[in-house]
Amino acid sequence: MTESKNDILFARAQKTTPGGVNSPVRAFRSVGGTPRFITRAEGPYFWDADGKRYIDYIGSWGPAIVGHAHPEVVKAVQDAATRGLSFGAPTEAEIDMAEEICRLVPSIEQVRLVSSGTEATMSALRLARGATGRDKIVKFEGCYHGHADSLLVKAGSGLLTFGNPTSAGVPEDFVKHTLVLDYNNIAQIEEAFANMGDEIACVIVEPVAGNMNLIKATPEFLQALRRLCTEHGAVLIFDEVMCGFRVGLKGAQELYGIQADLTALGKVIGGGLPVAAFGGRADLMEKMAPLGAVYQAGTLSGNPVAVAAGMTTLKLIQQPGFYDKLAASAKRLAEGLTAAAKEAGVTFCADSEGGMFGLYFSATPPNNYAEMMAGDRAKFNVFFHKMLDEGVYFAPAAFEAGFVSIQHDDAVIDATIEAARKVFTTLG
Ligand code: PMP
Repeated sequence: MTESKNDILFARAQKTTPGGVNSPVRAFRSVGGTPRFITRAEGPYFWDADGKRYIDYIGSWGPAIVGHAHPEVVKAVQDAATRGLSFGAPTEAEIDMAEEICRLVPSIEQVRLVSSGTEATMSALRLARGATGRDKIVKFEGCYHGHADSLLVKAGSGLLTFGNPTSAGVPEDFVKHTLVLDYNNIAQIEEAFANMGDEIACVIVEPVAGNMNLIKATPEFLQALRRLCTEHGAVLIFDEVMCGFRVGLKGAQELYGIQADLTALGKVIGGGLPVAAFGGRADLMEKMAPLGAVYQAGTLSGNPVAVAAGMTTLKLIQQPGFYDKLAASAKRLAEGLTAAAKEAGVTFCADSEGGMFGLYFSATPPNNYAEMMAGDRAKFNVFFHKMLDEGVYFAPAAFEAGFVSIQHDDAVIDATIEAARKVFTTLG
């Protein structure tokens, strides 16, 4: 047998790049084996270095909501590129994008564009601290908010894979102000505010968590966060980098009918290029430089090529019926996989919210980090590899949510379920 080109590339990559990858979860460390090196992508598919085609359920970890290489997005990028790649001076397209975000997310009155979700949450946190003059922040176990120092405490996803609840290199002094509580636990957050309400700058939460598999917040939990933050003058930050424009056109805030004070966005708003954003109440946002004392900046912020991809994506997702179709595809997948597992006698369930889904090797969907960790990860790993062999690429870790695009039509979903039916019979 000839050696796989993926193996050859992985060996080569490891010589010059730590672990052979530029973002840890790509490395297959959790599931074992060789990462697939992708050569091209189109619609719901991508192809690896051996020319093998996969149905892609990570969609670049969220951004590829209109499918890969959508012709309109590609054209917008090409057109923008011919006019220049980056100016370091403002453009009208940035105003268009800000106006569009403010229109789509009612709690956002002003917004600043940045280049990654990490920057968005890090800056929102700084703003919350700057605006309140308080240091303490509250986050929830298993929620990932990017890799800023004070947020790398009991974060999900890649960190779970590597068993690092806290990253090395983060001084204790930086995280001593970070209080980590259980997701969906109202009693704990009430107690925290009762004990130190006047010291808490902000509560940051993924309102639909996608970094400890998919876990939905209960409405009561988010309502309690909203109420407590208002009562105690703390800033409520919704990290919608993943769930924004994903669980619905107006994100989790519309889904739950709750307004955050600040919101972090990313992924979908860049359509596959680096655009993220944070925004919210104007009285808070006006505390940002150059108006206020909270500093934040970026050489490539509002980059014209990236903004062109993002704006075109935001236009496409507003087509009539887009989210109904997206949600129906994710639901069809979740229900089909659950039924196939049941037929085979495998303990498994799946759930979805808009275009996000979770696969759980447990009898019921988890409500928090501890429940998620109790799932059968060894079985997931076998499932993952067998599905990969069948040409279906799920997220390479049991801790990750999955994503469908609008190009994942019934035929694509049904082919996935058919492959899973075969695989489940070997897992019983
Ligand atoms: N917040 C959430 C909820 C995320 O899912 C992510 C990335 N997966 C981030 C923040 C960080 O975004 P980025 O990787 O663009 O820095």
